[in-house]
Amino acid sequence: MKVCVVGGGAREHALAVALSRTADVVVTPGNPLIPGSTPAPPEEIEADLFVIGPEAPLVDGLADRLRARGDLVFGPGADGAHLEGSKAWMKELAARADVPTARHGTFTDQAPADAFLDTLGDLFVVKTDGLAAGKGVLVTTSRSEASEAVAGYLSGDRFGDAGRTVVIEEGMVGPELSLLAICDGQTAVALAPAQDFKRVGAGDTGPNTGGMGAYSPVPMIDDDLVGIVMDRFVEPTLATLRADDIDYRGVLYAGLMLTPEGPKLVEYNVRFGDPESQVVLPRYAGDLAALLAEAASGHIESTPTFVDDAAVTVVCAVEGYPTSPRLGDPIEGLEAAGAVEGVTLYSAGVARSESGQLVTAGGRVLAVTAVSPDLVTARRRAYEAADLVTWSGKLVRSDIAAAVERS
Ligand code: AMP
Repeated sequence: MKVCVVGGGAREHALAVALSRTADVVVTPGNPLIPGSTPAPPEEIEADLFVIGPEAPLVDGLADRLRARGDLVFGPGADGAHLEGSKAWMKELAARADVPTARHGTFTDQAPADAFLDTLGDLFVVKTDGLAAGKGVLVTTSRSEASEAVAGYLSGDRFGDAGRTVVIEEGMVGPELSLLAICDGQTAVALAPAQDFKRVGAGDTGPNTGGMGAYSPVPMIDDDLVGIVMDRFVEPTLATLRADDIDYRGVLYAGLMLTPEGPKLVEYNVRFGDPESQVVLPRYAGDLAALLAEAASGHIESTPTFVDDAAVTVVCAVEGYPTSPRLGDPIEGLEAAGAVEGVTLYSAGVARSESGQLVTAGGRVLAVTAVSPDLVTARRRAYEAADLVTWSGKLVRSDIAAAVERS
């Protein structure tokens, strides 16, 4: 089978590596460190299966365009991708599906937004309705900071059109859990749970990012909890999508918070998580290309299985990420890092300069994944390898999977 992966980040690199165990893989546009990368646009590539990585082309209808010419595509159409493209619509659908989620309101004007903020407790959450690369969410205990964020979002200053509608939510507290479900339009199967780390700084400090690291499996999340998430969140959401005539074939990624009142939905994403994919996919024990092709065809037959080994990924980012990333610095040490036992480097923000030198070209540059029989060793090796890669101002969050080491 020939598979075309669309995207060029560490998630697509991890998809390409996992898929290439059983398929021939091309990646568009890829990047200089992803084998099989091609600059040809997806519409000019022939493949037995297309797997679309990032949310933006999904929201933009790439899956629809490819399906219209008869291609087999893993990834929802623009209708289903709206779940991620509009947080307001996601909340509305969650309410219809009776999925537990934080109390919220949707606003386009400051005064009613301020009035709603006054009804909340002491943790305020302000989100852009539209896509903002994981950075459009503010969680704060400051009522005035929340109100200022609303003003910045609504004016278009902070996130352009994505922020002209805001969703305000009550703050929830509790550990977070990501569960990725593979959907064929009718049914869904769960992949192994992962935990990711969204804030830039150790101890969950600083602004939200695309994700600074992740690990899998998650000892706290047993099969019962996975079953609850599938029954209470994923299945009712799929059923509601179906009732809306939306044939959802792709990943439904449920981001949840385990609150004292039980699990609640934080958000849905419509694609593989990044960096969750970099710890979940290396643990996949079956034929990933077959599973995704089945889902894309509307009939999942495989049961996902995972190796017992643990995986930890540590993201190496650039100075200033996520607010003002500094780019263009030479990257060194890839070979030594890749030689650490059990380590794979998944590349994202990398480019070649005119002289052929690899340089940083995006906020998140590499996801350094180590797979090992136990989480403690996987964590140690991921950090050992991450230390060996260098560029000026490299940024690494120091406490990825640290709680596991203490437990
Ligand atoms: P989202 O893009 O909606 O997943 O939000 C990004 C991150 O913001 C989540 O992973 C949470 O850490 C945090 N967050 C979002 N919504 C809430 C909420 N209602 N309460 C507390 N934290 C939240």
